Amino acid sequence: MHRPKWMNPAQWEHFVGRWAGQDGRVRCIGLDCRGSDDARITVDHTIPRSAQGTDDLSNLQPLCDLCNSRKGNRPDGYWRRTLYFDKPLVTSRLRISQLDYIYNRIREFDEFFARPYSAINGKLFCFLQVVGAGKTLGMFCLPFALNDCAAMHWPAAPRVDRMLIVTKDQALRAQIASELRHEPLAFGLVNEPPRVLEITSGDMLVDSGLDYDIAVMCPNMLWPQADATASGSQPLLLTWSPGIERVLNRHPLIAFDEMHYAHRGVRLLLDAAHHSLVFGFTASPIDAWGELLADMIKMSVYTYHDAVINDGSMKYLG
Ligand SMILES: [Zn+2]
Repeated sequence: MHRPKWMNPAQWEHFVGRWAGQDGRVRCIGLDCRGSDDARITVDHTIPRSAQGTDDLSNLQPLCDLCNSRKGNRPDGYWRRTLYFDKPLVTSRLRISQLDYIYNRIREFDEFFARPYSAINGKLFCFLQVVGAGKTLGMFCLPFALNDCAAMHWPAAPRVDRMLIVTKDQALRAQIASELRHEPLAFGLVNEPPRVLEITSGDMLVDSGLDYDIAVMCPNMLWPQADATASGSQPLLLTWSPGIERVLNRHPLIAFDEMHYAHRGVRLLLDAAHHSLVFGFTASPIDAWGELLADMIKMSVYTYHDAVINDGSMKYLG
């Protein structure tokens, strides 16, 4: 393996230091690599330059010629060997609102969700759930369900390596991040907690690196120019901030919590996330102007009645 011309010696040293095995050799990290042992190894941009991927070390990975050509424009990170969300999820520990109304719902459409995400994106897949239905762990189920769909089909089906959760304010952001760090383990869903990154600044959004499984952020970072004072019949003025597409394309899966708060932004998000599936979770899909959210595909509806009948989670209200 040789240093590409566009890399300086210091970058090269870092790259080799990061990826070389015990014997000093850098090998292809492609999933199911079928390249021969002496195949030529190239320095690949995880997020392609054409999608504003940078030459930063965090965006570079060794791939053999064969894997590099098979990679195409798949979502970033897809080619890493082990993904957190490929691990088994102990579904017997899920509540009905999470198992039947989210996890199994996705699996009912397995062939659809095993298509390249760039072919099926652009819609908001919505789960409508009454408050108290256990939405955080519901969101946590999603990447496992999608990776199950991929496993059921062909090796090239897309898999989720990283999820972005967008939630409406800082308090919820902190709460969801904390719940994700503790509850999957506490409820026995997994043996190992996800690595959760709470994104608290715009800089962090762009420079966060890739060492996490789930990032949680607020939509105002996606639209820093949004006129927060707009009200009444005037839609928010949203200005796309640079670099956002690059950030979004790191995440094959984006879950929008209470997305009706970002009503007008949802369309922008859907347009910018070319390789991502975007799911919405809300108790009310009506925006501030009383309109049903556009581009919504309803996946399931979990009502108060369902909660009482199915898992007794609303008993305290009775
Ligand atoms: Zn390979």
